[in-house]
Amino acid sequence: MNNELIVVAGGGGFIGGHLIGDLLSRGFTNIRSIDIKPTNQWYQHFDEVENVVADLKLKEHCVSACDGAREVYNLAADMGGMGFIENNKALCMLSVLINTHLLEAARDADVKRYFYASSACVYNADKQTSEDVVALKESDAYPGMPEDGYGWEKLFSERMCRHFREDYGLETRVARFHNVYGPLGTWDGGREKAPAAMCRKILHAESTGDHSLEIWGDGKQTRSFMYIDDCLKGIDMITHSDIIEPINLGSNELVTINELASIVEDIIGLKLDRNYNLDAPKGVNGRNSDNTLINELLNWAPSISLRDGMLKTCNWIREEYNATHGTNLTANQTAGVTKNG
Ligand code: NAD
Repeated sequence: MNNELIVVAGGGGFIGGHLIGDLLSRGFTNIRSIDIKPTNQWYQHFDEVENVVADLKLKEHCVSACDGAREVYNLAADMGGMGFIENNKALCMLSVLINTHLLEAARDADVKRYFYASSACVYNADKQTSEDVVALKESDAYPGMPEDGYGWEKLFSERMCRHFREDYGLETRVARFHNVYGPLGTWDGGREKAPAAMCRKILHAESTGDHSLEIWGDGKQTRSFMYIDDCLKGIDMITHSDIIEPINLGSNELVTINELASIVEDIIGLKLDRNYNLDAPKGVNGRNSDNTLINELLNWAPSISLRDGMLKTCNWIREEYNATHGTNLTANQTAGVTKNG
């Protein structure tokens, strides 16, 4: 079935771009990638794919997008890191139009599998008040009290997927991603997330010689971060499984933001003076992925270590930084030994 049409909504984005690369590498030949951004702003662009620029908030664009498709992956959303989602709640909620119209169009086009990218932001805020977290299991999304704006949209869209399956027989699958990171994604401009922002800030300190590092919050907030390759594997396994309820797709390697900073400092080879911006958006105090269910149902869970993933991510961001700033920062050959500072 490698020549049946696969549609990737949000194909110009970070995860969508990697998903298309992965599908091509696995021999799929008929792929349609759709994104609202002009193609020169897509993170990855594959000539062998049908590349479409369209606003998927509009029903007619979703109808054209799903025409003839066997599988649809909805990775399109107006989103970003905490700095973006805390200040753009209405924009985040408008992504509900994308999933609504894509679901209707997929149902009418008789699509066989529909994947929806949900988020750990659906989890009840009361379960995330302490850094000392109990990992979140799938049932912790209810009673509903998700992240304002972005999380509510994700929780509502998850339920819509469920009801399209129950009422119309559309085979929807939903994964709750926990902080995905890796090369070929947002690393500056305001939508970037903590791992990329940390790499950029520490590279910038190396480049300018200003050895201070601003950390949002007190640095004690805990998170887990999933490398993109684990995410791609999980998307494929979940989409083609019989798991009909939303399921966690995340790493359970819990770190504080201070520890994330130390990992990046070690990779880059520079120790900085930290200052804590307690007024900056920092999200919940603690969050981790409980992987009991995914282990039980798929006999698999994300396992790429944060250090290994961050090394690849930092190396890519260094190249981007050099290209944009005209600098010539080089990789630290002896991680763990500080260059200066
Ligand atoms: P991204 O911002 O890199 O990609 C999303 C893409 O959707 C962008 O290229 C954007 O231009 C496109 N888009 C936005 N509005 C659109 C519209 N109206 N029509 C067509 N395209 C539109 O983000 P990502 O990190 O690749 O995330 C992909 C999905 O995974 C999103 O649904 C996101 O909410 C979800 N998710 C991501 C993470 C993460 O850590 N990256 C965590 C949880 C959930």
